[in-house]
Parts: sequence; C-alpha cells; structure tokens
Amino acid sequence: MHFDMKGFSAEHQGKRLRIEFTDGEICDTELLMLSTCDQHADCCGITFELLKTNRPEKHATTLQSTPPIAMWSEIKFVKSFEVLEAETA
Ligand SMILES: [Zn+2]
Repeated sequence: MHFDMKGFSAEHQGKRLRIEFTDGEICDTELLMLSTCDQHADCCGITFELLKTNRPEKHATTLQSTPPIAMWSEIKFVKSFEVLEAETA
C-alpha cells in the first residue's frame, strides 16, 4: 500500500519549508527527515526543526530550546507545504 505523502520527497530533506497543518497551524521549518512506510499510515511523517509558527504559545518550550528540539508530525496532519527561499546571510 502507498500512502499520500502530500508531495514530500527525499529531496526536501535539509530544505526550509513552510508547512500548513490540518489544524490551521503554519510553521516555517527545516525538514530533517522524511519517513515513509508502505504498511502503516502512522509511520509516514516528517521530522523537522521548528523555526517559526503562527502558534508560538503552543510551542514556547520548543522555540526556546538550545539546541533545537526535533519535532514529528504524521503526514496525515500536513495539509500542504511550500519550499522557502534559501536564507541569505
Ligand atoms: Zn510502518
């Protein structure tokens, strides 16, 4: 079985992505790892570093953490995403 990965592919790993989640949260992230599984929907998801969110109060601890905490989301909670321009120094 193949699950809908919402357009994510391995080439997005290491890139900055703006992700919209099904609950309306929008996060700027760096995608660390894409996880796929052909048997379980709940194995399919993304591990990412949270850079910015429209719900900072929900993630206060994560946002203040040094080094950053990696976050996980099942792919079913991802509504859509776009690749952000590479940050210029
Ligand atoms: Zn699995």
